[in-house]
Amino acid sequence: MQTIRGFRDILPEQIALWQKVEQEAAALFESFGYREIRIPIIEKTALFARSIGETTDIVEKEMYTFEDRKGDMLTLRPEATASICRAYIQHKMYAAEPFRKFYLTGPMFRRERPQKGRYRQFYQIDAEVFGIDSPYIDSELIFLLHTLLHRLGLAGLSAHINSLGCPDCRPDFQKALLNFLGDRKDKLCENCQRRLVKNPLRILDCKAQTCRQALEGAPATVDHLCPDCRTHFETVKNSLEKLGVDFMVDDTLVRGLDYYTRTAWEIQTTTLGAQSAVAGGGRYDRLVEELGGPSTPAIGFAIGFDRLVEVLEQLDDQTYEKRPDIFIVSLGADAQKYAFEWSCKLNTMGIRTDTDFRGKSMKALMKRANKLNAALVLIVGDNELTQKKIVLRNMETKEQTEIGIENLVNDLAQLIKN
Ligand code: AMP
Repeated sequence: MQTIRGFRDILPEQIALWQKVEQEAAALFESFGYREIRIPIIEKTALFARSIGETTDIVEKEMYTFEDRKGDMLTLRPEATASICRAYIQHKMYAAEPFRKFYLTGPMFRRERPQKGRYRQFYQIDAEVFGIDSPYIDSELIFLLHTLLHRLGLAGLSAHINSLGCPDCRPDFQKALLNFLGDRKDKLCENCQRRLVKNPLRILDCKAQTCRQALEGAPATVDHLCPDCRTHFETVKNSLEKLGVDFMVDDTLVRGLDYYTRTAWEIQTTTLGAQSAVAGGGRYDRLVEELGGPSTPAIGFAIGFDRLVEVLEQLDDQTYEKRPDIFIVSLGADAQKYAFEWSCKLNTMGIRTDTDFRGKSMKALMKRANKLNAALVLIVGDNELTQKKIVLRNMETKEQTEIGIENLVNDLAQLIKN
């Protein structure tokens, strides 16, 4: 039996980096006042179709959708925003205090063509803010994202930002775009021919080479913003500049989903070649209302966790592997009895203790302690037990001392904690 195409295991040898990222992210989110939310990985298909948009690649081609035994159409979540909105509305979170900040880490599912950095089950780290339309929140999210990636050691980062306008200025832009596409219609791919009628903005995000060429010189949303959207975008840019965030306005950036309004951004890195976006986000001021909630501005981002880890793996100056504080070499049945008791007690005291009960030789056990990169080794044999003094070896300095058996666990814990 093998995993399905596009799905993969993340093995214990790889996990240290994932945990490190999760811990850094949670710490930063918490200090900015974000609270964790956990939601199901399956929702009704209609939730994603309505929020992400019927004519998007995700909904048209990539969702894992199936009928359950009662005939309900269900979908494995392709992203988290729609579900978080659903939760915000379902639990009437807006009633007590509409201004809420959430974060979430978990798997998403899209049936894309698998390749390096692209999977059918992949992981995202999400942050979403509801109930505030201030541009300072847009900047806070971009700053937070930038800070997190920087703390994790990523270099060569650039924030690409754009403003997609709002329902007031979008018709004007749409008109300009349709005008521009007037005599280029035949050059568009089949999907975009349909989008021309249903949702012309979607064409801007098409990856097909022919469409990319047809769009060269296309009008930019930033040139068609209404005064409110323009002021909003100016404040975002100015406040990012104040914070020293490296960004560029990229008027080709539209992001793949229907629900975005105003600020949209991606953080790009060159380390993974073509798969360059490691995170992306945007404002979606109308989505909560479209899903049946009260009119509530909202904004969020998603980090591609898999790609982030792949980038971090290439920075070889970081070791996240956790090493044991102590390894117990036990020689003989009696020594194993003590080693078992001591290791359980030390582990419960937060001292990372490793041992091995396979009855191997002193040489083999020392080799294992070395391989695990243990800081200290406790060597217990019959002799040591008779004399009630156990040998403790510092693996770095090679220095050996003796430690009394009576109060061994507490003495060791004291020594290690100091
Ligand atoms: P999106 O939800 O499409 O805006 O994507 C946000 C981030 O998730 C992207 O910048 C990617 O890094 C990551 N991502 C999206 N799709 C995949 C995938 N199939 N495999 C791995 N990462 C992905």
